[in-house]
Amino acid sequence: MTSQTLHAQAVPMVRAEGLVKNFGHLEVLKGIDVEVQKGEIVCLIGASGSGKSTFLRCINQLEKANGGRLWVEDQRVGYKLKGNKLHEQTDAEVCRDRAHIGMVFQHFNLFPRLTVMENLLEAPRRVLKQRDADIKERALGLLRQVGLEDKASSYPRQLSGGQQQRVAIARALCMEPKLMLFDEPTSALDPELVGDVFMHQGRIIEDGPAREVLGNPRHERTQAFLASVR
Ligand code: ADP
Ligand code: MG
Repeated sequence: MTSQTLHAQAVPMVRAEGLVKNFGHLEVLKGIDVEVQKGEIVCLIGASGSGKSTFLRCINQLEKANGGRLWVEDQRVGYKLKGNKLHEQTDAEVCRDRAHIGMVFQHFNLFPRLTVMENLLEAPRRVLKQRDADIKERALGLLRQVGLEDKASSYPRQLSGGQQQRVAIARALCMEPKLMLFDEPTSALDPELVGDVFMHQGRIIEDGPAREVLGNPRHERTQAFLASVR
C-alpha cells in the first residue's frame, strides 16, 4: 500500500475542531470536536435545543460557524485554498459543495406542488444537468428501495409523514451524495450499526457505540435523558 492510499483511507468524512456557533448572544455550539469516518453512521442525541440541527446545518453551510474549524474530507468548510492561503468561498462555490451533501430535514421540505417523481428529478436535472431518462431510472430504483414505487405520481400531501420522510431520503440519495445528514430520523436506522454522540448545551458530553451509550450511559446527564424518554 502506498502512502497516498493510506492517507486517503485516513481522511475522515467529517471533522470538527472546537466548532463554535452563536446566534447573537446565544452561544449554541461551544466547541464541538468530532470525527466521522467514511462509511460510519453516527447519531447525535440530545435534548431539544442542545444544538444538533445547528451542527448539521454548519456541515452543509446553511449556517456559518463563528469559530473553530470544520472539514468535509480534506476540504475546510467555507474556504478554498489559493496558493497556500485560505479564502472564503463564493456563494456559487458553496452551492457546488452543498450538491454533494444530502440532507433530510426534520419537516422533510418536499416541494408541495411537485409529484414524488418530480421531487426526485428536480435537483439532478437543475444542478447536475443530468438527462431525465437517466435520473428516472435511478429515481425509480430508489423509490423501490424505500417501498414507494407505486407513489411516483402522488403529491406529498397525499402521503403519510413516514412516506414523506422516505421520499425525502430518496430525493437526497438521487443526488448521489458523498455524505448524508438526517435531522431526527433515527427510527429508520439499525441501532446495531450506529455509533452515538450525546450533546448537552452545545457540547458533546458522551460518545461511543450505540449499545454502550444507550445501554450503559456513563454521564449522569445521558442517564437522566435516556430515563426520561424510555
Ligand atoms: P436541536 O436541533 O438540538 O433541538 P437547534 O440546533 O435547533 O437544537 O437549536 C439550538 C439553539 O439555537 C436553540 O436555543 C435555538 O432556539 C437556537 N437557534 C437555532 N436556530 C436559530 C436561529 N436561526 N436564530 C436564533 N436562534 C436559533
Ligand atoms: Mg433539531
